[in-house]
Parts: sequence; structure tokens; C-alpha cells
Amino acid sequence: MHDTHCCVTNCLANPYAPAGTQSVCKDHFLSFLTWRRRRGPQMFSAYAGMSMVERDTITAEWMKTIRIDEVPTPAPKL
Ligand SMILES: [Zn+2]
Repeated sequence: MHDTHCCVTNCLANPYAPAGTQSVCKDHFLSFLTWRRRRGPQMFSAYAGMSMVERDTITAEWMKTIRIDEVPTPAPKL
């Protein structure tokens, strides 16, 4: 893992766990887990047995579901 921050667009949090060949922060990792659980137990257990390339496909699919406005933006200092 050589990522310096979460691989989700516009998220600058520190990497916490791998998602495919990339790394995501804790918040995004938890949201990825939730998303996989919502897809059903089959998807959840299948992911564990997938190759990295297959996991990347799932990760990319999940990233498309993330709304940019879910990413917290620091309050501007005036
Ligand atoms: Zn993140």
C-alpha cells in the first residue's frame, strides 16, 4: 500500500483499509461494508473469495454510488 490518502474522490483522509488494490479511509471503508451488506449475504461472502481485479470492479461500482456532497468539507476560516 503506497496510497497517501483515501482513494475516494475529494477525500483526503488517511488510508485505513484496502478496497481492491486501493486504500480507503475508515469512514469510507465502513460505508463500503454497509453497501456490500445491502447487496446481500452472497455478495458479502463472495467478495472475500474474489481476486484483486474482481474486487476493483466491485469497488469501482461502489464509488459510483458515493455522492460527492457526503464528503465532509472543512469549515472555511474567515
Ligand atoms: Zn475517504
